[in-house]
Amino acid sequence: TIGMIVIDRNGQIYAGTSTNGAKHKIPGRVGDSPIPGAGAYADNEIGAAVATGDGDIMMRFLPALVAVEGLRAGRTPAVAAETAMQRIKRYYPDFSGGLVVVDRFGNYGAACVGMLKFPYSIVSGDATQKTRVEYKYC
Ligand code: ASP
Repeated sequence: TIGMIVIDRNGQIYAGTSTNGAKHKIPGRVGDSPIPGAGAYADNEIGAAVATGDGDIMMRFLPALVAVEGLRAGRTPAVAAETAMQRIKRYYPDFSGGLVVVDRFGNYGAACVGMLKFPYSIVSGDATQKTRVEYKYC
């Protein structure tokens, strides 16, 4: 899954995902990616989150919503992301997934479980700016 969060010059916040779904999925499977709160969530007053990983598990926990609510409660993006992922891991220790969280000011953080490292890209400013890849080590 590719998840993307955008904050435009007017402060509007967008979150979206594009995915090929799970391997060997049954026909008609929807997965977490298009489900608000599971694969992605945005709130202009707070921030946004996007998720990747085992969607059949994630869609039971709504990690994108949980992370944005974590921001609302005053957590940093990194702590909000970690809290949302650890909640899933508590019930599914073998779960694998990653979450990127951005607050409305553009501060960001990521969390991941069940993988070595989780790459994500950052770009800010106009279209002339270079994209930077960062890694969250899980
Ligand atoms: N979350 C996606 C799904 O389960 C898969 C992925 O992120 O790679 O449909």
